[in-house]
Amino acid sequence: MEAASVSKQQHGNSNINNDKVIIQRLRCSVKNYEWGRPCRDSLVAKIFGKNSGSQLDEDQPYAEFWMGSHVSGPSFVVSDGLQRVTLKSWLLENPNVLGHKVLEKWGGDLPFLFKVLSVDKALSIQAHPDKDLARTLHKLHPDVYKDGNHKPEMALALTEFEALCSFVTLKPCIMPILDPDDELQNGVLFDCLEIKAVLSVPEVVELVGVENVNLVLQITDEDGEEKFKPILQSLFTEIMSASRERVTGAVGRLRNRLHRESQVRQLTVKEQLVLRLEKQYPSDVGVIAAFFLNHVKLSPGEALFLGANEPHAYICGECIECMATSDNVVRAGLTPKYRDVQTLCSMLTYKQGSPEILRGVPTNPYVNKYIPPFEEFEIDCCILPQGEIAVFPGVPGPSIFLVPVGEGMMNTESPKGYPITEGDVLFVAANTEISVTSASELHLFRAGVNSRFFQAS
Ligand SMILES: [Zn+2]
Repeated sequence: MEAASVSKQQHGNSNINNDKVIIQRLRCSVKNYEWGRPCRDSLVAKIFGKNSGSQLDEDQPYAEFWMGSHVSGPSFVVSDGLQRVTLKSWLLENPNVLGHKVLEKWGGDLPFLFKVLSVDKALSIQAHPDKDLARTLHKLHPDVYKDGNHKPEMALALTEFEALCSFVTLKPCIMPILDPDDELQNGVLFDCLEIKAVLSVPEVVELVGVENVNLVLQITDEDGEEKFKPILQSLFTEIMSASRERVTGAVGRLRNRLHRESQVRQLTVKEQLVLRLEKQYPSDVGVIAAFFLNHVKLSPGEALFLGANEPHAYICGECIECMATSDNVVRAGLTPKYRDVQTLCSMLTYKQGSPEILRGVPTNPYVNKYIPPFEEFEIDCCILPQGEIAVFPGVPGPSIFLVPVGEGMMNTESPKGYPITEGDVLFVAANTEISVTSASELHLFRAGVNSRFFQAS
């Protein structure tokens, strides 16, 4: 946005202090993607039903609940119980609620998109482009790549949550001298098992070829991750671009072999996962690609963040998700949707090793803050016992609050209070201090612009 128009809006719109503007109730969109949980045990369905007052379709899966201004799943501002305008057009009329730093940086729109996910069946193996690639892809294929923005994301687990992400370490293995009391050495051994597992899977070797396997075996410990990256890229590309017939054959043989071997030995966790994926997506190359990615299990309260060009696939569980406002996904496996194998394989960073898990930083006795390394967003998680108060200090940017559980009251400095209950979603303007009191145990999630963005600017 031009500086001149920002300053005009700052001076031309003085209703920022108007009570009607600082808090808005939102009615939000739902996505019934086929990987979603069945209606009866989907948190997304429960929240959407209460938020919209709509009749739920018992026969549909409920996958994602979207809170934000993206055109593919808009939220609407509600007043006097009536759905008025989209949040996006309301923000254009009331830009000051975003705060001037956000306006200067991102224009008159919300920089983040907030979601709830209920995952029953694995999502596609995917990655999200960086800003430059996003712009290029959108220009070339606007029908597939819907916008020109990047899409860093973070998933905060509400239940046990499983995902595949980033490549397993493929460093050559020097067997450590084993000391069962030394956890670090056990960690090293674990990585050794990963490489051994991947390159000793006959169906993997079948698809990548013995020459490629030998290339890996020639790498020495001194060569390091950088030298290994092109080899990893060529292995992964070989697998992802194998012909339909070869993949179908390899996946079938893999399934039969693991079923047979499960009679005489305990399958590894990765092998068990691979069999689950094969049931969900028979003959899909993603079943074999899964061997190359870290299998991560989050407990409730743990979060995983993914930068640009990192491969990942959510497998099962429910989570709160936040991302930059974008819907750009490059898919290559575990999906009936459009696959762009060439783009995916060439865009990935091929970074190896387990991802960083965030556990949040307490900002008061009831609130935990999750700050990923992306300027667009952060998440606060508040679990408030009955009859307690939590204060969210005013921040220089906009916030969206979601109430998945419980009821209570939300207050600003003005005497008017806002009753809150399950399914409520509220937009809160920049620089508004919020205090929340709970009538029962109350769970509350807040998405806002990353606080490091305001500290840095
Ligand atoms: Zn993703």
